[in-house]
Amino acid sequence: MNLSAGVAKIPRRSFDNLVIGAGGGGLRAALQLARADLTVAVVSKVFPTRSHTVAAQGGVNAALANVSEDNWHWHMYDTIKGSDYLGDQDAIEYMCRAASRMVIELEHMGVPFSRLDNGKIYQRAFGGQSQNFGGDQASRTCAAADRTGHAILHALYQQNLKAKTHFFDEFFAIDLIRDKDQSVLGALVLEIETGELLIIEAKTTLIATGGVGQLFRTNTNARINTGDGMAMALRSGIPLQDMEFFQFHPTGIAGKGMLISEGVRGEGGYLINRDGERFMARYAPHTKDLASRDVVSRAIAIEVREGRGCGENKDYVLLKLDHLGADIIKKRLPNIREIAMTFLGIDPITESIPVFPTAHYTMGGIPTNRYGQVMQSAAGGAEEAVPGLYAVGECACVSVHGANRLGGNSLLDIIVFGRAAANHIISYLEENRYHKAFDETSMAASLERLARWDRQGEGETVSQLRSELQAVMEDYCGVFRTEDVLMTGVSKVKAIKLRLSNVYLQDHSKVFNTARIELLELENLVDIAIATVEAALARCESRGAHSRIDYPKRDDTHWLKHSLYHLKEGVVDYKPVRMKPISVASFPPKDRVY
Ligand SMILES: Cc1cc2nc3c(=O)[nH]c(=O)nc-3n(C[C@H](O)[C@H](O)[C@H](O)COP(=O)(O)OP(=O)(O)OC[C@H]3O[C@@H](n4cnc5c(N)ncnc54)[C@H](O)[C@@H]3O)c2cc1C
Repeated sequence: MNLSAGVAKIPRRSFDNLVIGAGGGGLRAALQLARADLTVAVVSKVFPTRSHTVAAQGGVNAALANVSEDNWHWHMYDTIKGSDYLGDQDAIEYMCRAASRMVIELEHMGVPFSRLDNGKIYQRAFGGQSQNFGGDQASRTCAAADRTGHAILHALYQQNLKAKTHFFDEFFAIDLIRDKDQSVLGALVLEIETGELLIIEAKTTLIATGGVGQLFRTNTNARINTGDGMAMALRSGIPLQDMEFFQFHPTGIAGKGMLISEGVRGEGGYLINRDGERFMARYAPHTKDLASRDVVSRAIAIEVREGRGCGENKDYVLLKLDHLGADIIKKRLPNIREIAMTFLGIDPITESIPVFPTAHYTMGGIPTNRYGQVMQSAAGGAEEAVPGLYAVGECACVSVHGANRLGGNSLLDIIVFGRAAANHIISYLEENRYHKAFDETSMAASLERLARWDRQGEGETVSQLRSELQAVMEDYCGVFRTEDVLMTGVSKVKAIKLRLSNVYLQDHSKVFNTARIELLELENLVDIAIATVEAALARCESRGAHSRIDYPKRDDTHWLKHSLYHLKEGVVDYKPVRMKPISVASFPPKDRVY
């Protein structure tokens, strides 16, 4: 292919900023940029308000102290403890301090939060929240019934329309454009409807493409959550951080995976086994059902493994909420009731819901600092920012969630760091005012990859291969892990990668672009799967969501560090956890009991 001629034919658009992803993270950043009179292009593979943020149920954390006594310092402590001490304490302090202001700002943007009788924002209890550094349960999660993400995403979208953000709806980002001097200068994208390529040139690019729940067969995520932005980063030479930490949410609908919010337990629901026993009292005597998610997920898995599961196959436990009464369920959990009725034919006002842990949240991701700048290794073991590249939200690893995220902290993460990244971009653009011309060979690898579409393979279809990948990840990289199982996982995932090049694209002449999009998504999933199993195999300890049966204890002497997986070299290396907060004393690691 004559590359220069090929690239010259692709139409171009130029903006000050490119934001890839229109979930809460991307839209919060875009709003800040558009309000600063910068030109902003937001690219999203689905219509913005269909981004996964829309599905967030339970709420967003902020120590408003509307229901229980509270302050940001306690929130900071809970987040660090929840992270099993792997979270970076400067970023956590920044997030928890900003939380109340950010939530009130959302309220002013039009988010219809539920109300207390005194008119203040309603807050519910969520897992891992305490008063006074590990004391009584706190109620810190600000909720709009059980549809908080829906309320936030719609408000942010409306505000962006008002601020004149430019939307490219149903455009699929393929790869970053990264020049020889390492700057990121925009992205190569594809209009899904027409199949036409487009180059979006930008002085800064922000990745906000969300998580990668589709790595696993049973998950709570949208079908679009395939980690595209993480894979784009990997391909352009940026490592992924802490990918071994994947959150399994304790209460997915058994066998199906849809989420039943932690808000149900926050409102007073609890888990029982086949003997009707409230078993969490044995695993977390103090907080019981509101222990951290990793703790509750492991407890359920153990109950089932030891034969105390419910149903014919003893393969789930029950989430009991009929004692809450019809009023509370209808007012505070209407969406949960609807989900249970639609997918199980069960009305939780009278019946318990069968649940089992389900893949939910990607703690790892693209390494960033607290300004959203993407970080890469530099000489002498130091780190440096990739010029012009930012990442926020579930695709990024700041890291505020460390080895385990607390419920309600992700909506907070996207709002706080979406805004922080945009503020940093605004100052970066004061110094970097002009577009840099890019070298056309910087797109060679992407165009070669796309040329694969023109080759019809004889192997499996995209969907067969994707299902196999998801099954492998679930079986070989699930809640409990061992070296043998992970080693098999690594070889199975790598074998799937080899089979990708021979994938069969149905009747090639007739396929819609969606088949091609699914192939691109599968390629992304496979690279992230490799990063995940390799990092899990390398980490010989149990911390947060990463439970090694062969290394059952946390090992701070050797493993209090972040992993970084590099795709091209196929290696995992490490960097220190930032233990020093911004202004308060650090919280040193101690035993984590709930
Ligand atoms: C069912 C469910 C319930 C949850 N409940 C809560 C809760 O109560 N509280 C809480 O704090 N957290 C909750 N979470 C987690 C939280 O909702 C997410 O972590 C967060 O909303 C992610 O936001 P985001 O902006 O990073 O990404 P998303 O909202 O996932 O948006 C990603 C965006 O990227 C775009 N995109 C992706 N790939 C491409 C590509 N290749 N090209 C172009 N565009 C692309 C998508 O179109 C989309 O616009 C929940 C998650 C789930 C799945």
